[in-house]
Amino acid sequence: MAEETIFSKIIRKEIPSDIVFQDERVTAFRDISAQAPTHVLIVPNKAIPTVNDVTEEDEATLGHMIIVAKRVAEQESIAEDGYRLIINCGKNGHQEVFHLHMHLLGGRRMGRMVQQPG
Ligand code: 5GP
Repeated sequence: MAEETIFSKIIRKEIPSDIVFQDERVTAFRDISAQAPTHVLIVPNKAIPTVNDVTEEDEATLGHMIIVAKRVAEQESIAEDGYRLIINCGKNGHQEVFHLHMHLLGGRRMGRMVQQPG
C-alpha cells in the first residue's frame, strides 16, 4: 500500500477543501495556491504516488480523470476557450505531493509550455 498524503485526507473529507466533483474513482478540488483563475486538481481516490507507479489496473481510472477534467472545465465555463492539463512526475517534473494528480488550469492564457529554469 502506498503511503498516504494530505490528498487522501481531502478525499475522505477529513480536512476541508473545495471539492468540485467526486465519485467512487476520482476527486476534483481547487488547488490551495491557485496559479490561474481556475486551478483544480483531479486525483484518483486510490493513493497512487506517481505516474511511475501506474499499472494496467489503473487504466480506466486514468481515462476517467480526463473525462472528469472535461466535465469540470465545462462546469467552470473554460472549456470553449481552452485550458491546460498537467501531471508532474518526480523530482525533475517538480512533483510536490506524492499522490498522482492532474492540474486543470484555465481562465487565462497559459503561455509557452515549459519555463526555462532561472
Ligand atoms: P505538484 O507540484 O505536486 O504537481 O502539485 C501539488 C499541488 O498541490 C500544488 O499546486 C499545491 O498548491 C497543491 N496543494 C498542496 N497541498 C494542498 C492542500 O492541502 N490543499 C489543496 N487544495 N491543495 C494543495
